[in-house]
Amino acid sequence: MTTRTDDDGLDSEPPPPAGGRGDCEIVRDGLGVTRGIAIGTLYLHCAGTISVAERRIPAGKVAAECARFAAAAARAGNQVEQLQEKAGGMAGTAGEELGYLLEAYRQMLHGSRLIRGVENRIRAERINAEAAVQQEINEIVHGFEAMEDAYLAARVADIRDIGRRLLRNLTNTPYRPFTALPRNAVIVADEMTPADTALLDPKTVAGLATVLGGAESHTAIMARSLGLPSVLGVAELLKDVVGGETVIVDGAAGLVVINPLPATLALYRRKRAEFLRSLRVLARLKTVPAITRDGTTIQLQANMELPAEVPAVLESGAEGIGLLRSEFLYMNREDVPSEDEQYRVLRDVVERMGGRTVTVRTFDAGGDKLAPALGCTIGPNPSLGLRAIRLGLARQDLLEAQLAAILRASAHGPVRILIPMIATVGELRATREIMNRVLKRLKAKGVAVADPPPLLGAMIEIPGAALSADAIAWHADFFSIGTNDLTQYTLAIDRSDEAVAHLYNPLHPAVLRLIQFSSEAAARARIPVCVCGEMAGDPRYTALLLGLGIRDLSMATSNVPVVKSRIRATDLNEATRLARIIMDQSDSARIAKLIDTFNEGGRQSAGNIPT
Ligand code: PEP
Ligand code: MG
Repeated sequence: MTTRTDDDGLDSEPPPPAGGRGDCEIVRDGLGVTRGIAIGTLYLHCAGTISVAERRIPAGKVAAECARFAAAAARAGNQVEQLQEKAGGMAGTAGEELGYLLEAYRQMLHGSRLIRGVENRIRAERINAEAAVQQEINEIVHGFEAMEDAYLAARVADIRDIGRRLLRNLTNTPYRPFTALPRNAVIVADEMTPADTALLDPKTVAGLATVLGGAESHTAIMARSLGLPSVLGVAELLKDVVGGETVIVDGAAGLVVINPLPATLALYRRKRAEFLRSLRVLARLKTVPAITRDGTTIQLQANMELPAEVPAVLESGAEGIGLLRSEFLYMNREDVPSEDEQYRVLRDVVERMGGRTVTVRTFDAGGDKLAPALGCTIGPNPSLGLRAIRLGLARQDLLEAQLAAILRASAHGPVRILIPMIATVGELRATREIMNRVLKRLKAKGVAVADPPPLLGAMIEIPGAALSADAIAWHADFFSIGTNDLTQYTLAIDRSDEAVAHLYNPLHPAVLRLIQFSSEAAARARIPVCVCGEMAGDPRYTALLLGLGIRDLSMATSNVPVVKSRIRATDLNEATRLARIIMDQSDSARIAKLIDTFNEGGRQSAGNIPT
């Protein structure tokens, strides 16, 4: 059972027992990934489902219905061929794999059993094409599932995908899920991709709960950036739910309560009111500086997933955007955004930030952030595959277009460029060469670019990069330490897999050693270093990171006030002493205890720690 404590201090009454079922109340526990409480109506989300009604077709209209279906199938075939063209331009095995998959899709749409089966149903049963597609897909899927063959079971998802594409074409439904939600909807799903999550509108969606997903997955990060109370990794979440029930999501404690009893509902309404009150108190910190008790200024910046967050970033008092994850530019679309389109979006963000620095990270699609527009495939091992800067160097047309867009945006306000997943000095050097080439081309055309041009930084998120931090620092203008991936790769724990979430631990001595090593290498090379992984936004780790020499933290906007409050209670000498004590430890459980003891000291002090 994974029940997290409510660090808002709101847990005066015990939560209902997890896993139990009262008169009608179901309580499930999972991984709390955002603070906050949602109370709303359960909306059961099945990926891309389109509901279709069955209609009888008069005998005279059967041929027309078959022609309508043939047109939808031809359109689907064209869409797949366009995707194939894009895949053809991809280097290496990822392109090859996507090519095989798309070829299988294309064949499914031409004279296959699926196509023949749908036509036969329209003719024989005289039903509309949508119902015929639905029934044929169901029959094929049931047949595959009955064979209990792992390969065929994996193909079921492909067949359903083709079915959804056909239905979208038949009903002229663009791929735009979550458009008919009840007010205050709590989305309950088996799984949500980061791209699906990006489509949720916090004005209509109150919260999120899923069966799959880890606390540091990109779905969790996206939910956090939208400020949605969310619990992921909830086993048996979908058991006994139909949709429409009242549901509570406690994002701090990691609990989901379905059909709450009146007393539970009243308890959570009080908790929610207290939480909102605590946010109002923290909001008063907006204009006070992030300064330690002994007078050292710490730079607090925001991580941004979507441009819609700019007002919240400004409202939080963040001094800039320390990490703009540019993947949103490529999500939920099948084409690649042009340089002009990217420039317009980025310029808008830079202008709205009103002179505050915006650190734009080049695309980091891949891993759990699949962007079909970039031709990303799941691949045999997505986190280790052709992603981030590797993809950029393999597809230099994509990287050049994005660098050109960022450079052009830099003419409108302070911008830095951050490169994800740097593993070698060579990758950073190659990227700088490409940037210089793009810069030269823009200048030759008389296009405005910041002078001097933006700084070029490296994400330190691969253990090998952290261990070569001294060498990389010679070629980087700044470092940004990505503790999410650094933890994932150091401990060999998939950050998005709820099954191993209990083993994911940034307090492992090896992870801390790599953070310390990177921070010290940056200091030796006299370049700035920021921490932009989720660790930066957790007030529990603030003193430790300061003690390790970090003076710049970038985090989910909603965490800026609470981290600022922690900074203002911290003495840097005490924090340095804490870090020294911790770096001598070998056991992460002991490290966690030392940190908690330090933090519990009110005015945080290493004097609380018995040495
Ligand atoms: C990280 O890995 O810590 C990071 C900030 O990047 P992302 O979470 O986007 O992988
Ligand atoms: Mg990362």
